[in-house]
Amino acid sequence: MLKDKDRIFKNLYNDNGIDLISAKKRGDWINTKDLIAKGKKWIIDEIKLSELRGRGGAGFPTGLKWSFAPKEVGSRPHYLVINADESEPGTCKDRDILRFEPHKLLEGCLIASYAVNAHVCYIYVRGEYYNEGQKLQSSINEAYENNLIGKNACGTGWDFDIYIHYGAGAYICGEETALLESLEGKKGQPRLKPPFPALIGLYGCPTIINNVETIAIVPTILRRGGDWFSKIGRSKNTGTKIFCISGNVNYPCNVEEEMGISLKELIETHAGGVVGGWDNLQAVIPGGSSMPLLPKNVCDTITMDFDSLVAEKSGLGTAGIVVINKDQDIIKCMARIARFYKHESCGQCSPCREGSGWMWRMLERMAKGEASRDEFTMLMDVTKQIEGHTICAFGEGCSWPVQGLLKHFKKEIEERNNFNPAFKKEREIPYLVDQHLLDK
Ligand code: SF4
Repeated sequence: MLKDKDRIFKNLYNDNGIDLISAKKRGDWINTKDLIAKGKKWIIDEIKLSELRGRGGAGFPTGLKWSFAPKEVGSRPHYLVINADESEPGTCKDRDILRFEPHKLLEGCLIASYAVNAHVCYIYVRGEYYNEGQKLQSSINEAYENNLIGKNACGTGWDFDIYIHYGAGAYICGEETALLESLEGKKGQPRLKPPFPALIGLYGCPTIINNVETIAIVPTILRRGGDWFSKIGRSKNTGTKIFCISGNVNYPCNVEEEMGISLKELIETHAGGVVGGWDNLQAVIPGGSSMPLLPKNVCDTITMDFDSLVAEKSGLGTAGIVVINKDQDIIKCMARIARFYKHESCGQCSPCREGSGWMWRMLERMAKGEASRDEFTMLMDVTKQIEGHTICAFGEGCSWPVQGLLKHFKKEIEERNNFNPAFKKEREIPYLVDQHLLDK
């Protein structure tokens, strides 16, 4: 369990106020000038030493990402973009940072921008977080008034401006290149990569894009040392993480914990346990709805970090933990998630645009007990035809949860749909081949 002395977010529940004076009492903005004076290389090396991995879902090493930014500024300016388009179902951690720990984020923005040679930072806030965005704007104003940002920010000689941009509610704008398109005023659709944003990003200029939580952690790492951070958790899965626990638990909450904590401990200690007791657990979605669910027998022993979850063919994602107990209809739950993805596909790639609808319709039939045996294999086939065949990771995000269901709950699907030869004959691939063609 995380010791109190290692806690980074000390105002996650707004016990101490979000204003600048309160933030300074928690250690924010204390010696920012000294940290920046140590230079860009020192900052990036310290972040590399900490082994910090991005907290937005992909888990890419942050120090390495920063090192991709060109060392010198050429004819094109550099930008830092903060992804606050938090839309993954089951995830609401960045929201609490925006509204309760805004100065941690702003200080992180200044330091990261300096490290990657950016004088301008855009914070892309999801449109539904209007109130949170307004609170963040008040903190930005406060930081300008106190010369913490703006011309000669913190007396460092570095000029630095921050702008908030609100999204309009599309899930796909959380994908980094779709976010850049949206920021440029275009339709939020992902770009083909390469080129990667570190070289050709916003307005065609070198751009580093980081998640809110990632950047908010940076000042504390630099103050306490990369070595301190790397000793929390386990190798390559270091530090603390904000977990969002929701679903069938007694006390849904956001909590900062050590990486690598066991899922059972996390749920029982912080969320008051599963409704109906641990034995009433059916499955857990461990990292936001796009990660494959884990059945109870895996949940009994799994630890919450990037590599442990990948080993179980799932992922830490955003660490949005959705607990599903035995009172729920698991097939219906996944059909509902599939409907969400069908609605949010941007439509550029045929496998994603069409396949997400296929998956949803088949799952609806399975939930009602109206699917044929062929559809079980066909549904798995559709997920495989989407995965790896699309422009962006949305393809994987919509097919992995379905794969998780088919892998772990095959028996439930078979029982519900009464798969027997007679039933199969009746319902043989009805929507792929018209019956009149078969009759000919
Ligand atoms: Fe759009 Fe889906 Fe293709 Fe991503 S995978 S670009 S969301 S159609």
